[in-house]
Amino acid sequence: MTETASSKSPSPFRIAVIGGGLAGLSAAHRLMELSRERQHPVSITIYEAASHWGGLVQTKHHDDYLVEYGADSFITNKPWAVSLCERLGLGAELIPTETEFRRSLVLRKGRPVPVPGGFQLMAPAKIWPIVVSPIFSPWGKLRLGLEYLLPRQTGLGDESLAEFTRRRFGREALERLVQPMIGGIYTSDPEKLSLAATLPRFQEFEHQFGSVIRGLRRQQTEAPDNSDGSSGARYGLFATLRDGLVGLTTALVNKLADQVQLEADSRVDSIESLGENGSFQFEISGGAKAEFDGVIVALPAYRAASLVEPIENKLAEALKSIEYASSAIVISGHRLQDIQHPLDAFGLVIPAIENRKILAVSFASRKFAGRAPDGRVLLRTFVGGAMQPELLDRSDEDLLDLVAEELQELLGVPRQADFALVSRYADAMPQYHVGHLEIVGRIEQCLEEMPRLALAGNAFHGVGIPDTIRSGERAAERIFQSI
Ligand SMILES: Cc1cc2nc3c(=O)[nH]c(=O)nc-3n(C[C@H](O)[C@H](O)[C@H](O)COP(=O)(O)OP(=O)(O)OC[C@H]3O[C@@H](n4cnc5c(N)ncnc54)[C@H](O)[C@@H]3O)c2cc1C
Repeated sequence: MTETASSKSPSPFRIAVIGGGLAGLSAAHRLMELSRERQHPVSITIYEAASHWGGLVQTKHHDDYLVEYGADSFITNKPWAVSLCERLGLGAELIPTETEFRRSLVLRKGRPVPVPGGFQLMAPAKIWPIVVSPIFSPWGKLRLGLEYLLPRQTGLGDESLAEFTRRRFGREALERLVQPMIGGIYTSDPEKLSLAATLPRFQEFEHQFGSVIRGLRRQQTEAPDNSDGSSGARYGLFATLRDGLVGLTTALVNKLADQVQLEADSRVDSIESLGENGSFQFEISGGAKAEFDGVIVALPAYRAASLVEPIENKLAEALKSIEYASSAIVISGHRLQDIQHPLDAFGLVIPAIENRKILAVSFASRKFAGRAPDGRVLLRTFVGGAMQPELLDRSDEDLLDLVAEELQELLGVPRQADFALVSRYADAMPQYHVGHLEIVGRIEQCLEEMPRLALAGNAFHGVGIPDTIRSGERAAERIFQSI
């Protein structure tokens, strides 16, 4: 049969995804979905510099321990991770946090004490747990409660998380609880962290209800299931996969393998725009050249900056202005009966004013089932971050020693462990400093001129896994719109 104009299928639009972390894999997966839904053939190639896929998501086994080297779970009230798992057929593999130990500890004067029930990152949704908590002095408690009555202030622009917390709840709330809790998530200095970019909900509560506490209480009455995850939302507030998060990246790679060209060990260092027909060209490590009609760059912002510099200097400059922090996790397995503290919580966060050398300890096997053999416990101790970057200059041996000493002093963990290792993350965590949203606005403005170029990753609209997945999926949708 001869091909007529009407029967001739359109030649596939060639799309490159650069970066095979969760953002890049999700982008490629969404491209495949869109291609099928819209019956528009595309040819997709994904380039990953490392020999393995998944970027910051890595799960490994150490004897009978199941160890997450990086991320270990995700929040479920942002739907994109759960939705992706379900579309990949992993719904039945999702597990919630264990109910028995669903609480956190915070260090106060060298002693772990429980975070008051209902305390949500910066504010209490319940009063009584604050009244009886040993964390705050009587004045600190009074000052926290005064938030309910303070007049609202609007028009202050983008405040730092520290400024906002001091203004609404007082210095003690910041130093004793908010700094370590938020610091644990963003590995950041709250004096620099943008409230608007990280926790806009709290700013909105002040604007809408005149008080954060009032806003939280209103939210609790209207949607109690979403408040602290303990009241039976479908998967609880945090979830992971039974055999570790690597299940997600493996399922993505397996699903992509049929239709996507997967190029591991392939670093891309810069992209050129070929101007006339709007396509892009780049060289892959090893020297091969490739040409594409659309490109999704799913890399940390500073790496994306060097790739796009030849195309658009203003875009590169804006990307470079997003700072990053490094951190390390010391992961260790222990015999539970040897540890003095009952470890009856998900973990311990450590305020900077306690002057310790560690930021937090996650009691990983108390949080999720199947992480340690019976009678054993898996700990993940966080070091460094934006508050203590100098510690990361130390050797692995020194870090293991430093953490062993801290764990012994704070929780009575003997130095003898089943295993202990260091997992380092250099420049891995973007810092959403005051002004972050303005930088992202500039980046998006530059991209308006280049509809066939998209960016994805955790540098822009959220650092966690659900936001990263969403960034990849949005990048795919943007490219499809340009076809
Ligand atoms: C220690 C740590 C713990 C975390 N814990 C959690 C958690 O429990 N829950 C949660 O929700 N989030 C957590 N996060 C955040 C979450 O892991 C990340 O937001 C997410 O994994 C980022 O994915 P990504 O694809 O944007 O980036 P990455 O995972 O960094 O992927 C980028 C990929 O690009 C590749 N690459 C780099 N340069 C090039 C190049 N030139 N060419 C080709 N490829 C290149 C890299 O090798 C990498 O594989 C954590 C982060 C860290 C650092």
